[in-house]
Amino acid sequence: MVIYSPDQPISFKDFGILIPISNSKADRTLQVLLEDPELYRHRDKWYQERENKILSSQHLLRVHSKEYIERLFGNGVEGEIIQTFGLIDEEGKYHRYNPSKAVRPLSEVRDWVLKDAAGTLQCCRSALGTGFCFNLGGGMHHAQRDRGNGFCLVHDILISIRTLQAEGQIQRAWVIDVDAHKGDGTAALTVDDPSVITLSIHMAKGWPLDGDLEVELQNRDPSYIPSDIDIPVGAEEARMYNTRLSRGLEELDSYLRPDLVLVVDGVDPYEKDELASADLLNLSLEELIERDQLVYRFLEERKLPVAYVTAGGYGAFSWEVYSSFLLWVLKKRLGLIPLLKRED
Ligand SMILES: [Zn+2]
Repeated sequence: MVIYSPDQPISFKDFGILIPISNSKADRTLQVLLEDPELYRHRDKWYQERENKILSSQHLLRVHSKEYIERLFGNGVEGEIIQTFGLIDEEGKYHRYNPSKAVRPLSEVRDWVLKDAAGTLQCCRSALGTGFCFNLGGGMHHAQRDRGNGFCLVHDILISIRTLQAEGQIQRAWVIDVDAHKGDGTAALTVDDPSVITLSIHMAKGWPLDGDLEVELQNRDPSYIPSDIDIPVGAEEARMYNTRLSRGLEELDSYLRPDLVLVVDGVDPYEKDELASADLLNLSLEELIERDQLVYRFLEERKLPVAYVTAGGYGAFSWEVYSSFLLWVLKKRLGLIPLLKRED
């Protein structure tokens, strides 16, 4: 299944936020899938609209602190959004933010995020039923227990896992994070929990790992808490990315089998990505397709149910990566690839 929300004509520009998050990430991806005649004919087998649900504070409390949730639902909400999206710089000036251009109140970002996060939970439930689901949204892997961080207001991935654990639907989960930035929130929020195993392959340097290692460890900066498997990739090692990912997956295989896998499928390592802080990793479309097929095949061979979330991907071209992967995977799952080519 592919989950998409048609009633989400949201643009960050409406809030005066000038971060290059484009609607085309979801819209154009879906458009490409529906323009394929075979997929269009079979759309009832793979297309699912996002339910019009919003996560409650009860869901959020499974991952975040009471104080943070109270701020999010109270007068502190705008301050939390400004902090999470980095809209004020160190000198106290607006940064990539122009409130005079806003046509909607900033607090609406919270409700939009909570609907987006509900899509991740829907996607996980669908994956448990069908084996595969891709949410064209979600992936807020930087959110910490008591604050938003790096454009991530709440940690939809862990909220989904905790909810399904509380319901008795799953016991163990893996999180495979291929976004350009380290899945630091995921690592910090699961550090003492053997029921959630985390793998993150990411830029060796740059945000959120741009501090001095020894100083940050002393400061107990949660971004430096290790994932179960961390694969830092230096700018000069980019051509080894998929080889190193493959080794990481082999290592993941030594952990107990999970009931559900979440893939944080950020495409900001793409060479056409427009977010400056993802510049240290510049993979080609071919390398990213290889990456996505590598992860998918690894999970398929082990018959593990998998839920994907989009995470990072900035500017006008991220849809190229998502649509390439989804065209391949949907046709494969629907048996639309001729037998002789099935191993492609
Ligand atoms: Zn990212």
